[in-house]
Amino acid sequence: MTEHHESGPAVIGGGPAGLMAAEVLARAGHAVTVYDRMPSPARKLLIAGRGGLNLTHSEPLPAFLARYQPQDGTLAGAVGSFPPEALRAWCADLGQPTFVGSSGRVFPESFKASPLLRAWLARLDGLGVTLRTRHRFVGWSETGAVLFETPEGRVAARPAALLLALGGASWPRLGSDGAWVPVLEGQGIPVTPLRASNVGFCVAWSPVFADRFAGQPLKRIALSVGEHRVRGEAMITAEGIEGGALYAASQAIRSALAEGMGGAISLDLRPDLAEAAVAQALGNTRPGESLANRLRKAAGLSPVAAGFLREAAGPALPGDAAALAALIKAAPLRLLAPRPIERAISSVGGVPFGQVDDRFMLNARPGTFVAGEMLDWDAPTGGYLLQGAFASGRAAAEGMRAWMARP
Ligand SMILES: Cc1cc2nc3c(=O)[nH]c(=O)nc-3n(C[C@H](O)[C@H](O)[C@H](O)COP(=O)(O)OP(=O)(O)OC[C@H]3O[C@@H](n4cnc5c(N)ncnc54)[C@H](O)[C@@H]3O)c2cc1C
Repeated sequence: MTEHHESGPAVIGGGPAGLMAAEVLARAGHAVTVYDRMPSPARKLLIAGRGGLNLTHSEPLPAFLARYQPQDGTLAGAVGSFPPEALRAWCADLGQPTFVGSSGRVFPESFKASPLLRAWLARLDGLGVTLRTRHRFVGWSETGAVLFETPEGRVAARPAALLLALGGASWPRLGSDGAWVPVLEGQGIPVTPLRASNVGFCVAWSPVFADRFAGQPLKRIALSVGEHRVRGEAMITAEGIEGGALYAASQAIRSALAEGMGGAISLDLRPDLAEAAVAQALGNTRPGESLANRLRKAAGLSPVAAGFLREAAGPALPGDAAALAALIKAAPLRLLAPRPIERAISSVGGVPFGQVDDRFMLNARPGTFVAGEMLDWDAPTGGYLLQGAFASGRAAAEGMRAWMARP
């Protein structure tokens, strides 16, 4: 077995949490090694860039912190110490200034992750951070060495302090596959099972609708499930429907599905207009106007929204203005089941906060810290996930510094 002889701390997992920790440690003068099982780091960050890279949110800190579950002081402390403005300043310093979108969400002006990641990796290289890819963490030896599987065989290391930032279990082909769960459980550390969060739902679309509209957004809609109503966007996919409105309502939707109330879900395709106003607009059309034209011109529906309405109506749309308006304001949507964790934006579950101290160190393994999505917290989309990963990575690195400086 090969042994890496490193005197400094190690970070396993080169995602946002791990790389942020590496930067803090390297700036403090430590010789940091980052390990990742993939051929290159931060693949999930790059994929997040496809949606414009929603880095954080501009709402006031108390409202921001209220988005996290559980309402844990350790995570709130980390975000409070590295709040959204600090993350925005950090991006600007990497040559990637940010802007606040109309929804209050914050994006890099480039609307991409790749320039940010490129600049960040160059900075880490300049700070002397060693990156060892294709190193898969598999646990500890009996003498406490950290063990990795590599294409060249098994490798061991004995870092001065260790951060695990291995992510959750969504999109496993990007690197975080949750294979660390049994490894930690084997150390006597209880782990809450990883489950999909911020995930879409399966719908049995007609083949014609799926073929024509998969990949198209339903913009400015409101989704109702029972008493719960959220505004947002939804994206039609070949298998179902996903996007912010679904993620925001996902807890309520899961409960409705579990209670056999899948049919209790509906979409309001014109949330800014009262039903009577929609009916009036539909009633004011010229005699002989086609239904397609009435939906487009009078009701203001996009082609995908009109297509969705036809799916919702079943065999035929009502011709009567009042009935049509009622359907536009509450088009039933039959969701079958959540999409699998492999397609989720994030996972919930992981190492409970009760297993770490207020510096993110495992109670059961002094000197080993945990950060990012590996910890059991949840938040909606809107930038809260990345902010939580970056901030907890920073806070854990501060904890490691304090640990290494102990007398
Ligand atoms: C499609 C998509 C879009 C998203 N968009 C957004 C968005 O716009 N805004 C937002 O806030 N969040 C978004 N997210 C979520 C966000 O990307 C994650 O919350 C964030 O990446 C978590 O960071 P992390 O460092 O904890 O884990 P990860 O980014 O998952 O990084 C973990 C790293 O650990 C490595 N690893 C795992 N196991 C091992 C092992 N055994 N040995 C060695 N290395 C290992 C992995 O290869 C990976 O590089 C999106 C996620 C997805 C999937």
